[in-house]
Amino acid sequence: MIWHPRVQPWTKVPLTALLALVFGSCASTGQTVAEEVEGTPAVLATLPEDETESEAQAAEPTPIDSEFDFDSLVAVIRSEAAEPRERSVLPFGIVWTPAAPTEGSAIAFRVLSPRGGLEPEAVVGRFADGVVRFGRIGKEWVGFAAVPFDTEGQQQLDLEFRFGDGSMYRQAVDLQVAARDWDETTLSVAPRYSSPPPEVQDRIARDRAQFRAVLDHASPEWLLEGAFESPRPYDVTAEFGQKRTFNGELQSRHTGLDLRGQVGTPVHAAGRGKIVLAGDFYFSGNGVFVDHGLGVYTGYFHLSEILVSEGDMVDPGDLIGRAGATGRVTGPHLHWSLWVDGKGQDAGGLLGLEIPRP
Ligand SMILES: [Zn+2]
Repeated sequence: MIWHPRVQPWTKVPLTALLALVFGSCASTGQTVAEEVEGTPAVLATLPEDETESEAQAAEPTPIDSEFDFDSLVAVIRSEAAEPRERSVLPFGIVWTPAAPTEGSAIAFRVLSPRGGLEPEAVVGRFADGVVRFGRIGKEWVGFAAVPFDTEGQQQLDLEFRFGDGSMYRQAVDLQVAARDWDETTLSVAPRYSSPPPEVQDRIARDRAQFRAVLDHASPEWLLEGAFESPRPYDVTAEFGQKRTFNGELQSRHTGLDLRGQVGTPVHAAGRGKIVLAGDFYFSGNGVFVDHGLGVYTGYFHLSEILVSEGDMVDPGDLIGRAGATGRVTGPHLHWSLWVDGKGQDAGGLLGLEIPRP
């Protein structure tokens, strides 16, 4: 009798499923006390440049030749099913700000190696169905987690530490996320913004594609150093997340935070980063995107003037433009945005985050 080996589905486990296995069974340890790291050399993280992309590639089925080759099958099983050896180490100190997280506001996690503990080469996390990319700032590992709308109650950060010898260690912490009451408002704008005419549809699609191309990419290291600052005096005229009805017909969610600003008043960079997109967009008007590294971006919109160019590095407080009333507005102001892991978050929450300096 001839044995006809069949390729079983489990031989092609996608990376997403492996990650679920890796992260699915972590026991929670609660918040641990951070300790000072002493005499340990800084090791730079080598996180994948784009987690989503590598997951997508890994999920592609491997074509199998009709001629069966047992050795190649074994090689495929070994390479895809192999998990790094798990080791036990002293637990890491994990702290976060804000201390009481809320729906819609990103969390900054800081991880410290225990005194005399083993230094990881990379740290990756998962929180609320998203990726938390960690990178070194000085002696600490720092990672931002997005807290999407409708995320509330007990949540878990699952961490995986990878060491130079190929081994790994897992740790998890539980934290409570509070729900928020969102404002509702009705607004009147020029009809071309509530029901855009057919001739601008291509432009709107082009703007969206440009935004996604920026926001779906995560730079491999932090450009950020130290705390964020408000780009204008912190005088909020419309909260992030506000539920809006434009001209009684178009319903949407406010994707940024509005700060008071007359035409021509200065707009400053909120944190250290690189200008990755600056241009004139249909709804957002003149806008600037700053990449802070590891999938964290801030945006500054409706500007009357842009004073930076793509590729420029900026520090907090640097003048990047002037407030205005370009795009879909009811009057001049600064619309300030934040994205973490591709998701819109409350930029105002950045001001309460503790971020170390190198
Ligand atoms: Zn706004």
